[in-house]
Amino acid sequence: MCLFCDIVEGKIPSTKVFENDKVLAFKDINPATPVHVLIVPKKHFDDILDMASSEEGKEALGDVLDAVPEVVKATGIDEGFRIINNCREFGGQTVKHVHFHILGGVKLSEKMI
Ligand code: AMP
Ligand code: ZN
Repeated sequence: MCLFCDIVEGKIPSTKVFENDKVLAFKDINPATPVHVLIVPKKHFDDILDMASSEEGKEALGDVLDAVPEVVKATGIDEGFRIINNCREFGGQTVKHVHFHILGGVKLSEKMI
């Protein structure tokens, strides 16, 4: 069982921001910034290294990239935002379905962490 696969399949509700046949973008349940959206490929990859290991994964990363301007448009964060991918245990990844945090809606610190 994978939480984000369940969200993609609609078994668990989410607040959708953008969707097409390849990706889903939805609001993070515990937002760190006024706009906090997660973009996930609909196909399950464990993490970004898993994505990098196949042509299919690389294509899916391109699909995630396509969703970025759509999320920007839908949330009005064209003044700027930050994209974060937490990878594996030391990267702080808690959900093992690759996802990209889009953080915005406020001027973020120039310090990354
Ligand atoms: P990470 O720590 O990078 O694995 O991020 C996982 C993110 O998923 C966290 O920011 C959580 O707040 C978020 N999250 C967990 N469960 C849900 C959910 N049901 N709907 C939306 N976001 C969730
Ligand atoms: Zn999954």
